[in-house]
Amino acid sequence: MLAKFDFHTHTMYSDGDGTAAAMVEAAEARGLEAVALTDHGPELSVGTPRGKLAPMLQDIRLAREDAGIPVLAGIEANVVDEWGTIDIDDEFTRNLDILVVGIHNLGRAGGPVELARDYLRRATRAMERNKIDVFVHPFFFHGYLAPHLSLEDLEEFVRLAAKRGIAMELNMKYRVPDEDFLRVCMREGVRFSVGTDAHTAAEVGRIDWALARLRRLGAKREDLILDKFLR
Ligand SMILES: [Zn+2]
Ligand SMILES: [Zn+2]
Repeated sequence: MLAKFDFHTHTMYSDGDGTAAAMVEAAEARGLEAVALTDHGPELSVGTPRGKLAPMLQDIRLAREDAGIPVLAGIEANVVDEWGTIDIDDEFTRNLDILVVGIHNLGRAGGPVELARDYLRRATRAMERNKIDVFVHPFFFHGYLAPHLSLEDLEEFVRLAAKRGIAMELNMKYRVPDEDFLRVCMREGVRFSVGTDAHTAAEVGRIDWALARLRRLGAKREDLILDKFLR
């Protein structure tokens, strides 16, 4: 049996429409076992300003008090350079329950192969340098880049994720990654996260595509990252 959860949602603190309380209420109404609130980090144009990070956490804590399910305080940090630096420092991440990281900017535009290689380099370094729980919308940058990389490169990336205990997200907004990549993850023992990337309460917990894909892979509950957070 798989489990229903959503570890990637946005609120008004970044570019979402809802409050933390509204997102949590929607998660409960959809019958999720847990939800994470993961607004964008400060280095994105629509990200949460640094001065709003503390009130954002406070709102999540308040929403949690009334919730009937576990509510994780998170951030969707950005990889800001080719060295894998993220836009949230260690001191702040200690206040979080979950750190999810994504790539939203790459260097100079090139063809898809150059973009894919740049993406891989940044993602690899970010995973080496930071204590990440979930890598979100893997290999999506204005299109899906994984097919432009060799199987060997992808396997090496997935092995690093396995070694560092970093889950790969099935992202509902972009419908990535593909089954080939997910199969490599299964083989190498990487866990999976599920994220709607919801920006409105109505989108929270709409995860049918991800669950169907995980079922096709033969994934079980123990292949999901969820239970790590339900202790
Ligand atoms: Zn994102
Ligand atoms: Zn997002």
